[in-house]
Amino acid sequence: MSVGTERTRNSTTVDVRITTRAELALRGVRLDAEVARPAGAGPSDDGHVLVDGANAALPTNPASPYSVRDGRVWLGEEDTGIELSPVRRPKFYDLTTSDGVRYEQIARLHGSDVLATTVVQTCIRYAESDRCRFCTIEESLRGGATVAAKTPAQLAEVAEAAVRLDGVRQMVMTTGTTTGPDRGARNLVRSVRAVLEAVPGLPIQVQCEPPGDLRWIGELKDAGATAIGLHVEALDEQVRRRWMPGKSQVPLTEYEAAWDDAVRVFGHNRVSTYLLVGLGEDPDELIAGAAGLIKRGVYPFVVPFRPMAGTLAARDGLGAPSGELLSYVTDAVAELLKAAGMSGADQGAGCAACGACSVLKTAGG
Ligand code: SF4
Repeated sequence: MSVGTERTRNSTTVDVRITTRAELALRGVRLDAEVARPAGAGPSDDGHVLVDGANAALPTNPASPYSVRDGRVWLGEEDTGIELSPVRRPKFYDLTTSDGVRYEQIARLHGSDVLATTVVQTCIRYAESDRCRFCTIEESLRGGATVAAKTPAQLAEVAEAAVRLDGVRQMVMTTGTTTGPDRGARNLVRSVRAVLEAVPGLPIQVQCEPPGDLRWIGELKDAGATAIGLHVEALDEQVRRRWMPGKSQVPLTEYEAAWDDAVRVFGHNRVSTYLLVGLGEDPDELIAGAAGLIKRGVYPFVVPFRPMAGTLAARDGLGAPSGELLSYVTDAVAELLKAAGMSGADQGAGCAACGACSVLKTAGG
């Protein structure tokens, strides 16, 4: 198929650039990435590259039909016209804290300019019966790629170096869920304060489960966070129970209350949630759910599910969604975002602002 033509699903027309970017997100590219994220919290497992100048997290896959020649993506012998350049290994990875921890065990470069960390690398929901089936938060810990808990001082030290040496422009702080009504927010508050003392003005997105006590949302804002991600991953109750046996015990009504409170505190389009494509949710219901989130002022960050090594999903042989399904949902949600005047960049910080794990930016969201 030549570049510039269009494919259709049902009666919806999806631009080929979106479908190609979706295929890249799912099938990956034959490339040795210098910056990669082998395992960790959430659904990502990728090499970090720039696609047409924008952050992209793509699986590095020796069996992919996509290759890179002269800085462009080729599908077999066809030049797709898409530019791709790898993200270079950042200088801060070569540094070590005074107490002997490598900086790259504390925080990692995502895309070309995002510093990402999992403040607490353990989760109360990681028993096999409770664990989200797409998550590997504790696998990277077992592999020695990271440390269980990052202190605020360590995070401040690494953030300062990453900004100074490697031009990092924003930071994402996520956390495994902890016991207690803050569900991890307390550690995020301390961490945000420490980083902003070291790097005043650095945009930071925090990510956690909806705190049982919503007061913590205000505390995170007061600490200086720019944006917040409260990630539901799926809106269909059956899908939630099947994929997230532990997390689905937090009812959707709690998410809705937390989203609304977060929009009140952080502002319209400063709150986001992941929605994973490929968990078996009806695509039109997923799109309708995204429309509801947009109406609330919450950015639905649509991301393909991919069965990362080490996940229960991979162990059970579950596969990624089709490129067609991902393109269909992404295109529809991007249209809704455009109609509402919401862009990922306007989040100011975080995954929606980075965009690497989604195809939404290519689709105009
Ligand atoms: S979208 Fe989020 S998880 Fe993905 S690379 Fe960007 S900051 Fe990291």
